[in-house]
Amino acid sequence: MTKFTDLNLAEPVLRAVMDEGYETPTPIQARAIAPVLAGRDVVGLAQTGTGKTAAFVLPLITRLLAQNKQAPGRTCRALILAPTRELAAQIGASVETYGKHAGLTHAVVFGGVKPGPQIKKLALGLDILIATPGRLLDHMSTGKARLDHTSIVILDEADQMLDLGFMPAIRKLLSQAAKPRQTVMFSATMPAAIRQLADDFLKDPVTVSVSPPSKPVERIDQKVFYVNSADKPDALIDLMAPDAGKKAIVFTRTKRGADRVAKRLVSFGHKANAIHGNKSQGQRERALEAFRSGKSPVLVATDIAARGLDIDDVAVVVNYELPNVSESYVHRIGRTARAGAEGRAVSLVAPDERILLKDIEKLMGKEIPGMNDAPPMPKGDAAKPKQNRGGGGGRSRSGGGRPQGQGGQNRSGQGGGQGGGRPRRGSSTRKPSAAAQG
Ligand code: AMP
Repeated sequence: MTKFTDLNLAEPVLRAVMDEGYETPTPIQARAIAPVLAGRDVVGLAQTGTGKTAAFVLPLITRLLAQNKQAPGRTCRALILAPTRELAAQIGASVETYGKHAGLTHAVVFGGVKPGPQIKKLALGLDILIATPGRLLDHMSTGKARLDHTSIVILDEADQMLDLGFMPAIRKLLSQAAKPRQTVMFSATMPAAIRQLADDFLKDPVTVSVSPPSKPVERIDQKVFYVNSADKPDALIDLMAPDAGKKAIVFTRTKRGADRVAKRLVSFGHKANAIHGNKSQGQRERALEAFRSGKSPVLVATDIAARGLDIDDVAVVVNYELPNVSESYVHRIGRTARAGAEGRAVSLVAPDERILLKDIEKLMGKEIPGMNDAPPMPKGDAAKPKQNRGGGGGRSRSGGGRPQGQGGQNRSGQGGGQGGGRPRRGSSTRKPSAAAQG
């Protein structure tokens, strides 16, 4: 078995690894560290929770120490790009941890906060800059940051970074980096189309993959619960009851939905906060911290929180609505069963989400068992996924007037019987109770 001492990491890096109590490299570390250290372009495919951050940060620090260069003011020697502020902050914390004996400088730059302190740090020149693309481009456009000394660029959650929304920014950033440049991309999933785009930025890359991409860890106990949209608010309360007080993440598709669901959970005695893009940076950080510490163990989130976040002991992930993009399902449920723990993931599936469910099952190559019997597949308009479906407030919402509603069958609780937290009967007029003290 590979040992950390076999990997040619710099002594200060090894010391930091020992301080963390890591005994052996994880599989992605055992396979990715050597090529990153050798200066190769690397595509690393690994689920979050497999130690992938260290897989690129440890060799990065080692390389920078070996080069022994200094970054002129407003430049950085290495750039790590992440899609969300939270992930950037988390990578920044890892750089701090693994680099604590290395004496390198680093800063984290993302939007939603005042630019002044970031500009100050950039002005000195940095060994490692961790950034979200938008804010970095802002600093570049005002002349506060340059990438002409940046010869190592790492993209975390690369598939998302190369997706439509981010692609123009990534192209711009990479075109301004130093030449030659080492490019490293890490991701849990890498659909073929995205991989083609990735190849535009890579030179003779080494691909390392530790588990088949897009396959969520086997340990997650995945279930679906078939329910009408109008009955989701009640179904959620029932589903959450057995795990009250444990850490849970509830994913909604919209920001307003997240707020509504959080409010409803609170009215039923859960300690819950919502986190999404309309919240201020301070609110997002506070919600995340309260969740991380367990003070507020339920986090209601849009997909912004689905990626990369490394939070221990998440007992259950609930998909209040299925994501439009199947890969997001994998990222969402990957928030549980981390670091060898058990976890469960339950998805509330309305008739118009059955198509999304099929796509997800296709991606994963298996059927997700139902907690209740699947009603017949809807047809026509009823089968079409609705966009921007809101989350469940206390109000009962129409299930779209579909004749083949699932409510009756679901609520009879027949079939399935997969145990563990099957929703009880409920009615959409239920009153909040203190039953679920979190
Ligand atoms: P990541 O996949 O980067 O989100 O890392 C998941 C968790 O694994 C983090 O909490 C790390 O502290 C931890 N970790 C990373 N490498 C190791 C290792 N070699 N041994 C034990 N834990 C590790």
